[in-house]
Amino acid sequence: MAYIEGHARDQALLLPPSVEDYVAADNPVRFIDAFVDDLDLGAAGFQRARPKATGRPGYDPADMLKLYLYGYLNRLRSSRRLAAEAGRNLELIWLLRGVRPDFRTIADFRRDNRGAFKAVFRAFVLLCRKLDLFGRELLAVDGTRLKAVNSRARNFSRERLARYLAATDARLERYLAELDQIDRGEDGAGTGRGEALAVKIARLREQRQASAALLGQLQASGEGQISLTDPDARLMVAHSKVTVGYNAQVAVDAKHSLIVEQHVTNACNDMGLLTPTAGAAMEVLGVERIDAVADMGYHSGDDIVACEAAGITPYIPRPHRGTATGNGLFPKERFRYDPVADAYHCPGGQVLDTRYASVTRGHLSVQYSSPAACAGCQIKARCTKGRWRRINRGEHEAVIERMAERLAKRPGILTIRKSTVEHPFGSIKQWMNQGAFLMRGLEKVRAEFSLTALAYNMRRAITLIGVLGLIRAVQA
Ligand code: SF4
Repeated sequence: MAYIEGHARDQALLLPPSVEDYVAADNPVRFIDAFVDDLDLGAAGFQRARPKATGRPGYDPADMLKLYLYGYLNRLRSSRRLAAEAGRNLELIWLLRGVRPDFRTIADFRRDNRGAFKAVFRAFVLLCRKLDLFGRELLAVDGTRLKAVNSRARNFSRERLARYLAATDARLERYLAELDQIDRGEDGAGTGRGEALAVKIARLREQRQASAALLGQLQASGEGQISLTDPDARLMVAHSKVTVGYNAQVAVDAKHSLIVEQHVTNACNDMGLLTPTAGAAMEVLGVERIDAVADMGYHSGDDIVACEAAGITPYIPRPHRGTATGNGLFPKERFRYDPVADAYHCPGGQVLDTRYASVTRGHLSVQYSSPAACAGCQIKARCTKGRWRRINRGEHEAVIERMAERLAKRPGILTIRKSTVEHPFGSIKQWMNQGAFLMRGLEKVRAEFSLTALAYNMRRAITLIGVLGLIRAVQA
């Protein structure tokens, strides 16, 4: 059977007469064009939003922004690849009207305007709000670790440096002793070995000096770790994977899994990040109150209290922290607090009403126990390894208990959280292949992630209402 054949390369063809004919009415580039043309780039913070009256004309920031939006939407993020595509990709030739900036100009644009991309992301979120694509009732907040331009070998913690210095000192001592032996002629090895050792010692001393300087730098800054290629990146652990990277936080609306707010930080965990992320999302959505669900990594008394004060109703499962759970003993949830008696009822049916108050890192907590009851308890082996069990009650415990009651009445909300946040993170890392940053420094990776989140939202909105619907909304 024959194959479908192409035409001969020297055959004269009647191609469509204009580039316009190559771009269908519902091609996403038409939306990018309309969306960027509608933006106030000066207000967003883009440089040269107004052309200079004199001098050599520069590239229009609107064209450069269109190029980046197209690139992030189509897995093209490097300036070299964008420059190459601008010259051979018909959609881009249409979008930029034949303008072909070189890769340096493209890279400089992203770097120089790094503070402005968040405003473009926000403008698209406001467009989605206008189109009623947000439910504005429930946010799923989550964070993901994205790799930085920094290998693990070029990240040093104080502990790692201290270990390295101790090991280097031991090696130096060994080499010096060996060198002494050779000098005294006790060792049978010739001068060749002595020379090799001298080189090794000199190299080790150099490395030791560099490591000691890094440790000194860490001690002076108060930081716990230092990254040499990207100084802002941090060693982070997530789901047993260790990465030198950044923590990208998103607040996703549960109605259509669209990202309402995003922010990149180098905080190594998510504690304390619920209120700022959900609070900023509330502002964009224009609501006074909202529910927010997050995983147990966000469980922090201070943050839960701050959420409630900001009009956010948090839903966070309680993590099983503490030695009791680790040792297979009764978890704290098995102990019921009685506010009238100000005491705990334990699984053995006893009342723990001996109280001891203390302040740790500025937070008051009260320890409840009953040594007498524990002394004669039949199930003590399942409760404590000590002489009696103690239950700590922090100053925010009432708020945390209220949240646990809310969560017990609405268990399905945790499944909604998972499916809502997995959509953007799965798409960004797998489909869009954007699980690692290309730039260095917190400000620059924030710009990158604004473009990534914007591209995700655009793709999602196109699926929901189509290119023509979006264009009509921009032009309305
Ligand atoms: S050991 Fe003490 S706290 Fe635990 S169940 Fe027995 S009496 Fe209650």
